[in-house]
Amino acid sequence: MSAIAKGISGKHRIAVIGSGWGGFRLIQGIDTRKFDVTVVSPRNHFVFTPLLASTAVGTLEFRCVTEPVKRTRVELYEAKCEGIDLVNRTLNCASTLDGFGPDKFSVPFDSLVITAGAVSNTFGIPGVKEHALFLKDVSDARKIRSKIMECFEHASQPNVSDDERAKLLHFAVVGGGPTGVEFMAELHDFITEDILKLYPSLKPFVSMTIYDVGKSILGSFDAKLGSYARERFMRKGISLRLGEAVSAVHQTHFTLSGGARIDYGLLVWSTGVGPVELIKEMTTGERAFAARDPTMGRLVTDEFCRVLGKDGVTPLTGVYALGDCATIKERALPCTAQVANQKGVWMYKALNRAVKDPSDIAPKFEDAGVTPFQYNHMGSLAYIGKWRAIVDMKDPTTPEAAGKAEPNPLQNALQFTPNTGVGAWLFWRSAYFTMSVSTKNKIQIPMFWILTWIFGRDISRIK
Ligand SMILES: Cc1cc2nc3c(=O)[nH]c(=O)nc-3n(C[C@H](O)[C@H](O)[C@H](O)COP(=O)(O)OP(=O)(O)OC[C@H]3O[C@@H](n4cnc5c(N)ncnc54)[C@H](O)[C@@H]3O)c2cc1C
Repeated sequence: MSAIAKGISGKHRIAVIGSGWGGFRLIQGIDTRKFDVTVVSPRNHFVFTPLLASTAVGTLEFRCVTEPVKRTRVELYEAKCEGIDLVNRTLNCASTLDGFGPDKFSVPFDSLVITAGAVSNTFGIPGVKEHALFLKDVSDARKIRSKIMECFEHASQPNVSDDERAKLLHFAVVGGGPTGVEFMAELHDFITEDILKLYPSLKPFVSMTIYDVGKSILGSFDAKLGSYARERFMRKGISLRLGEAVSAVHQTHFTLSGGARIDYGLLVWSTGVGPVELIKEMTTGERAFAARDPTMGRLVTDEFCRVLGKDGVTPLTGVYALGDCATIKERALPCTAQVANQKGVWMYKALNRAVKDPSDIAPKFEDAGVTPFQYNHMGSLAYIGKWRAIVDMKDPTTPEAAGKAEPNPLQNALQFTPNTGVGAWLFWRSAYFTMSVSTKNKIQIPMFWILTWIFGRDISRIK
């Protein structure tokens, strides 16, 4: 059964798909005196992803990285957008709350902002979805934390052979990008600083490995920083197995393309992102109505974040997209929180300024003095364990990165930031503390950092 969600007033109606970095930043700043804002998202909160790995090992508590959407005083429907009807200007939604009767409804809009993010890419490798764990959401971090403790609890039981112990205590991460590396660094800290103090007899059986099809880890960073991280990992006993792809994953082991069988207790999959179902529907097949970026399957927008139609030239009226689900035509930007955050801020400022009255569904941004979106790279950061991080200030998206031009003024201002070691770690922590999205989190995050430092991480296994 389908129903139409209520419209509240005669204001211009903006529907926002998603409550992640792009969507949340947008709704934090949109002028609700001028707009009725309705968010459609399967989760009722925002997740501060850069610190998600810290929650998976108990350095931080889960609530430190979430912020309820309702606090921003917009309408929220906990639902998935399954389709967009551009003729009637409605979203077709399905509730994600189980067991509460009719679950289909539509949401009318004058303007639409799509910030649906991306899904973890499994490249169709058999068994990944069924057996590997991902790190995209708080529910994933919770599963990982429980699984780590399950492996140790199981391995400590008297009826388990040493051979079985070594299998259970092999912690594997597939993907040597920043997310996989940061998770492995946090896991190593957790195991060596907290768990092994309580399970000392299990130390000889523990192993940790990063697998990547590439020849190096942290390929998006300067090569010297990548080597620094690699050396530190090897010194700490984290193995790197590079240059081989995973070909299939099973419940307790996976295979590599060379045929090797690898047993594991925990397998975390972190090999980049691909388009969500909604974006695939919009860009592929007979009913496609939006342009598709051929490299990553994202929506293509112009420099005002307006989604381009199938011809790749004409913007769809009043339909915008930002964050991981979209890229600007001929100006590919990475799938990062930095990009999504900056686009979210740019978008609310542009809409607040350019939409003049409720029926204005095709605002003239240029006439309102809105300049195209410009990305300001603030540096790439990665935690590599034991109070150390790496910081790369080079902007990978501009000619400066290739040494063809002068660095921008922001980079000049930040060029004295230490790029490795403890100084870089302090920069990493202060950067994410500053970026956290609410006063509540700005209080909770340092509080939990201090509690962890004094009392260690929590090893309770809460299912
Ligand atoms: C563990 C981890 C660590 C990271 N660390 C960093 C970092 O240190 N620095 C950095 O710059 N970037 C980092 N990133 C990347 C960053 O989180 C993403 O680039 C960013 O979240 C993209 O923002 P977004 O708004 O596009 O999507 P997301 O934040 O993923 O939000 C997408 C939203 O859309 C919703 N959604 C999806 N499909 C639908 C649908 N059909 N209908 C309705 N809603 C839908 C989702 O539920 C979600 O609310 C990290 C990512 C991860 C997973």
